[in-house]
Amino acid sequence: MKRVFNFSAGPAILPLEILEKASKEIVNFKESGMSLMEVSHRTPLYEEVHNEAIALIKEVYSVPDNFDVLFLQGGASSQFFMVPMNVSVSGKSAGYAITGTWGEKALKEAKIQKRDVVMLCNTKESNFNNIPKNIEIKSDLSYVHITSNETIQGVQFKKYPETNGIPLIIDASSDVFSYKIDWKNIGILYAGAQKNAGPAGVTIVIVRKDLYERENDSIPTMLRYSTHAKENSLYNTPPVWCIYMLMLNMKWLKNLGGIDAIAKLNEKKANLIYKAIDESAGFYIGHAEKSVRSLMNVTFVLKNKELDAKFIKESEELGMLGLKGHRSVGGMRASIYNAMPVEGCEKLAEFMKNFASKN
Ligand SMILES: *Cc1c(COP(=O)(O)O)cnc(C)c1O
Repeated sequence: MKRVFNFSAGPAILPLEILEKASKEIVNFKESGMSLMEVSHRTPLYEEVHNEAIALIKEVYSVPDNFDVLFLQGGASSQFFMVPMNVSVSGKSAGYAITGTWGEKALKEAKIQKRDVVMLCNTKESNFNNIPKNIEIKSDLSYVHITSNETIQGVQFKKYPETNGIPLIIDASSDVFSYKIDWKNIGILYAGAQKNAGPAGVTIVIVRKDLYERENDSIPTMLRYSTHAKENSLYNTPPVWCIYMLMLNMKWLKNLGGIDAIAKLNEKKANLIYKAIDESAGFYIGHAEKSVRSLMNVTFVLKNKELDAKFIKESEELGMLGLKGHRSVGGMRASIYNAMPVEGCEKLAEFMKNFASKN
């Protein structure tokens, strides 16, 4: 098989070695004579996978003991309503930092839940190309919601806002497990697995345990964090195959040297492509302001839009797929998540240089 470099924003590239391992175990899991997908989630065979996935996340991400790691369904998008349902406090407003498309969607759901919300910032006017340095946070907020990495616009918080103890809720769907986390103010960190941790179908939700006290009786059982926490995310049937793939992914990350090792690689990878943009004498124009450039989604446009189709066609011919940018930004987006090898970024940077000099 000729493997391509897949720069898609999500579902996204997975390490080849875990795909190969999974392909063997998909038919006969640990000599059980069954696929893991056929195994009851109430058996030791599955529970071992489930618990190992949780343990690996705690270990690799240095999750403190006062947090639970939950596996939920409905995507990161379902957290947009579960967060206000479970964590808002009557009489207090929730603060939302709007730095891109996903933050807007999170805010919309909080409003549908009829929660009081305030916008802490909104960079829509500049098409979400920056993140304000000093986001003012009043002390009477119930929680503060941010999107650590805006996948579409390619802007990333380099330092989380100081919330002084107000629970910080982070949508980390596109940069989870990519750098070391300071858990100090965090109340909840959530991420759909399909960008940086596995296939689509499971959402990783890491919740500080004291927040369960904020739940009220009107929340449906399935939509309460405490339901899943009490049952170790086995209240109902979990997406067993997705959690298995997530477990393999965390093992891969651990063997590679963990978060510190991947963070270094991610920086190196992103620098290769940003350098190709900055040294192109204006042929490529980066979308994000330099100080908030994402290490996961590199967004840029070609000065001459008429070359977009040619850029896509020629990159595809060289085995680089998924580079077309989101329509709201245009141009190109190179998603270079944990599983993207350095060689993929080297190849893209090289291609960008050649393409610019030829055109
Ligand atoms: C992809 C993405 C989502 C949506 O995730 P789903 O699992 O598809 O619901 C939410 N937030 C961010 C930052 C994303 O990148």
